[in-house]
Amino acid sequence: MPNCSNCGVYMQPTEVYKREIYVGTTNRVNYGKRVSFGNSTHYRKQSVCVNCVNMIDKANEARKRNSTIVLLIIAIAIIIYFSFRR
Ligand SMILES: [Zn+2]
Repeated sequence: MPNCSNCGVYMQPTEVYKREIYVGTTNRVNYGKRVSFGNSTHYRKQSVCVNCVNMIDKANEARKRNSTIVLLIIAIAIIIYFSFRR
């Protein structure tokens, strides 16, 4: 009996969608010959219902858009910085 792993609703077998769901971030510090820091983000493939799949897709789109805007702002800042230095 499949249940949505996001909201817990019972799903018809035809309404089961698979999506990578963010489950957390682990911060690792390795004390080897050098100290190094590692960040790993964990996604797990889970079964979700129609409503949640729409929500997840929308959230992913928004996140992609946000990171594009951030990159654009950084690029503009670099351009401005170099044009003022001259
Ligand atoms: Zn759901």
